[in-house]
Amino acid sequence: MSFLNCKNNQEYTLPDVFTAVKHGVTARKAAEMYGIEVNSHGMACCPFHDDTHPSMKLDERYYCFGCHTSGDAIDFVSNLFQIGKREAAVKIAEDFQVAYDPKKRPGRGRPITPEQRKEWEMRQLQKDFREWRGKALSDLNGDYRILTERTTRFEPADRNAPFPKPFVQAHNDRTLVEFYIGLLETASQEMQIHLYLHDREAIAALHDRVNEREKPRASVWEKLEAKKQLVHNRHTEAPLANPQRAAI
Ligand SMILES: [Zn+2]
Repeated sequence: MSFLNCKNNQEYTLPDVFTAVKHGVTARKAAEMYGIEVNSHGMACCPFHDDTHPSMKLDERYYCFGCHTSGDAIDFVSNLFQIGKREAAVKIAEDFQVAYDPKKRPGRGRPITPEQRKEWEMRQLQKDFREWRGKALSDLNGDYRILTERTTRFEPADRNAPFPKPFVQAHNDRTLVEFYIGLLETASQEMQIHLYLHDREAIAALHDRVNEREKPRASVWEKLEAKKQLVHNRHTEAPLANPQRAAI
């Protein structure tokens, strides 16, 4: 009987892309391949959070002491390039010239354990939280500037006069904005995640409210500018010398 006809022989078959990459490429090698500088202690600045001192340990797998992300080479590349796991595995296989059988699917039948699911969900939550936090902080800092300007604008000149409504509203909103910024900058990560889970809608509503009031004012200002421009154009002696007119 010919050797190649032997059905049970697995010697000459290639593994699926996941198995091939998992056995052939470490998280550290993958990170280095895609431009992450890993020092002699196997530490690098984490590309998944704003990291200034190396807080990610890379070896067979990676783990970040700052944002707690972890995984293998495929997870790393998938996160780094924001691509799917399969795409990441294929990319690594190609870049490292790891041989695999493209038709073969990874072995099924091993259901994930509740612990694995919990870990996955936790990772997902932290990822969503980090994205939200960056945007929320930037929005809130913008709101703070707007509200500071608004309180100055509506502050009554006469100390004894009652505070006008817009002043009170802006003042109260600014206190709230300050409170949220403080939490997002100094509270524990647990507390911040709690804020993300329970207060993100309130924060978004606050941001909308602050900016909604800003819109009509901007358009009035624009109208005024347009009017000024019109008057200016009328007084310009040579219309063709005006580049705006020449362009029409
Ligand atoms: Zn990190």
